[in-house]
Amino acid sequence: MAERIRPTVARVDLGALKSNYRAIVDHLSRERPVGMPGVIAVVKANAYGHGAAQVGRALEDAGADLLACADIEEGAALRAAGVRAEILIFGALSVSDLDGLFDCRLTPTISSPGAARAVQAAAARRTQRLRYHLKIDTGMNRLGFRFDNLRRTLPELLRSENLDLDAVFTHFATADDPASSLFDEQRRRFDQALADLNVLGARPRYRHAANSAALVRDPRVWFDRVRPGLLLYGMVPPPLTSTIALAPVMTLASRVTAVKGMRAGEVTGYGARFAATRPTTIAIVPAGYADGLDLRLAGRGAVLIRGRRAPIVGSVCMDMLMADVTGLDASPGDEVVIIGRQGSDTIDAREMADTIGSIPWEIVCRVGSRIERVYA
Ligand SMILES: *Cc1c(COP(=O)(O)O)cnc(C)c1O
Repeated sequence: MAERIRPTVARVDLGALKSNYRAIVDHLSRERPVGMPGVIAVVKANAYGHGAAQVGRALEDAGADLLACADIEEGAALRAAGVRAEILIFGALSVSDLDGLFDCRLTPTISSPGAARAVQAAAARRTQRLRYHLKIDTGMNRLGFRFDNLRRTLPELLRSENLDLDAVFTHFATADDPASSLFDEQRRRFDQALADLNVLGARPRYRHAANSAALVRDPRVWFDRVRPGLLLYGMVPPPLTSTIALAPVMTLASRVTAVKGMRAGEVTGYGARFAATRPTTIAIVPAGYADGLDLRLAGRGAVLIRGRRAPIVGSVCMDMLMADVTGLDASPGDEVVIIGRQGSDTIDAREMADTIGSIPWEIVCRVGSRIERVYA
């Protein structure tokens, strides 16, 4: 194995990932033994920063038969990594480059009449038939055919000679907000859209709607498949809680590269935002905003060193940060846990997100490309 040069690494526990996949499947089968929904395992954005190739293969190993990613390029990368399961593309298709759909056997989402025409034309040129998922916009107002005029917008797509409707889906804007009424509104609109499809003679094989939050929150929107992303990586969308037995997948850790003493009144970091009010020991940790660590952690967040919380002080710099280790007897080489467990304490992505006013999805997606992923 190649020698690791940088001390900051993201350890990705593929065993935990697989166990999360199985825990989700177990939950679905326990809650709905008859007509249990299938799973669409979401691995977009480099599998939420965990590494699409390894994660895709591991999920396939664990039994996933349908993975989803954002665009054709991500789908091609999964194929190049040896993934053989069906791959659904969620995002809008760039009309100029549809070859990948055919070359890599990817299943497109069609979310507009224009995309429908482009994909139909590409399939006709190749004299191939292509299965697709139809996306309905029930209130997110992002991608998808509007729910309220399908009888006008869909017939042309449904007549496409070379396209077969495999599934129909929608996406919730507020599944993680128990106080929002839009969730129920979207659910009703989706039911209406399904009825309209029926009137139009469309017979999709299956329907899906639930991201992680909706999966956790409301079995009524499980339909025939659910689409967890965050749950697979061991995180429950805040503020929800779940009884599904999930294990954290990513640990972000580093090592102290230097320790130094500051006198009372001295400052550290850009902007001199932290001034020592007493003799203070700080540890320098070689991870900064170029590695995806948020500037707002300075003065708010902490890292774990010697089993204790060491507050991040001063400023998060491009390549390093400073942590207050006064009284911890820290030395160069000590392990620093940025996300994960050390001793009896844990800082998870959900806590880090909460600390800086972000969301756990963003925390893991932003773990930088400079950081080596180590798989176990
Ligand atoms: C990202 C995504 C998901 C998964 O969302 P999580 O909140 O991570 O579970 C599901 N469906 C679609 C359409 C998505 O884009």
